[in-house]
Amino acid sequence: MRAVTIYLDNNATTRVADEVISAMTPYYREHFGNAHAIHSLGRRSHDAVEESRGGVARLLGCADSEVIFTSCGTEGNALVIRGLLDRDPNRRKVVTTSVEHPSVLTLLHALERARQIELAVIPVNEEGAIDLDALQAAIDDRTLLVSVMLAQNETGVIHPVARIGELAHARGALLHVDAVQAAGKIPIDQRELDADFITISGHKFHAPKGVGALTIRKGLTLQPLWYGGGQELGLRSGTEPVPSIVGLATAARLASEALSSFDRVRTLRDRLETELASIKETSVNGHTQPRLGNTANISFHDVAADDLVRSLDRDGVCVSAGAACHSGRIEPSGTMKAMHKPLRVAMGAVRFSLSRYTTEEEIAAAVTAVERNVAGLRRTVTV
Ligand code: PLP
Repeated sequence: MRAVTIYLDNNATTRVADEVISAMTPYYREHFGNAHAIHSLGRRSHDAVEESRGGVARLLGCADSEVIFTSCGTEGNALVIRGLLDRDPNRRKVVTTSVEHPSVLTLLHALERARQIELAVIPVNEEGAIDLDALQAAIDDRTLLVSVMLAQNETGVIHPVARIGELAHARGALLHVDAVQAAGKIPIDQRELDADFITISGHKFHAPKGVGALTIRKGLTLQPLWYGGGQELGLRSGTEPVPSIVGLATAARLASEALSSFDRVRTLRDRLETELASIKETSVNGHTQPRLGNTANISFHDVAADDLVRSLDRDGVCVSAGAACHSGRIEPSGTMKAMHKPLRVAMGAVRFSLSRYTTEEEIAAAVTAVERNVAGLRRTVTV
């Protein structure tokens, strides 16, 4: 029989917190008015949206008026990138890194192919650190935007975004920070980062799927992706999903409160990492860099990570592999390729991502399951 699930895939998505569900429920059942209706039900919804805006602003260190609600991280990233294209005909260049999420990288490559932008993709080293000299050299007077993630989704490596912002602003370029993986795991302050735009997504920090937020620094404008009723400053037309927005703000408050005890998660991650790194022929990806306290990316050399993920799943342990099947062939993840990892290391990379709900017992059981399954898979390969 399948064991109880040990969920260590929180960078993919998280379970919705009970408090979040409780806060959302009345907005489905009783306070279901359209936030733009003028009757009392509508006003109640409107007030809930505005209070929630304040809640998200507190998580991100910006003014309430600088927050708009979106449906997800992918939308926030697209809104910034596409929304800026018409800004200045003399600035058509976008600078980004080779380890960005596909919602940024594939969009930028598509815009480059359509000759709508000039693109500079800055490499990282084997540990996932951005080459800051190359980045500085790439930012010039034609640069419209520098788009960088605060924390990398596969390795948890935290990038020096405040420094990158200085480099961007020194040449008159804007800074977009994809903070989808960082939100709720490290403090984020729009003013300290000097960020012009910050993207977050609720389902990464115990809010429901289908809601996110984008901060837009006061005084800046974007073209909307679509037109309609003009909600969210005209940038995101469509009736506001009030329950989800309330859920996002509740999750933001809970995440801020839990940040002070995030060291407990880091201790569990360190324990997991130390024990798994003692299995022979393993390496921890990005471990010399500042990293999120919840993420461990470990390569089990010469093991196919997707086989390991499937066999761990049979033991009730949910983790993820960067390597994925494309057109019938297993390919290492773009991030591992960008980090110049040899194939036998890249193909064996498994991501373990914890949450504030992860327990010591779960980590101990996960370690035992990984040791057993890695040994089993290695035996199969050598037989
Ligand atoms: N940016 C980063 C760094 C991510 O990790 C993800 C999702 O994994 C996204 C953007 C996309 O977010 P969403 O799934 O909410 O569209």
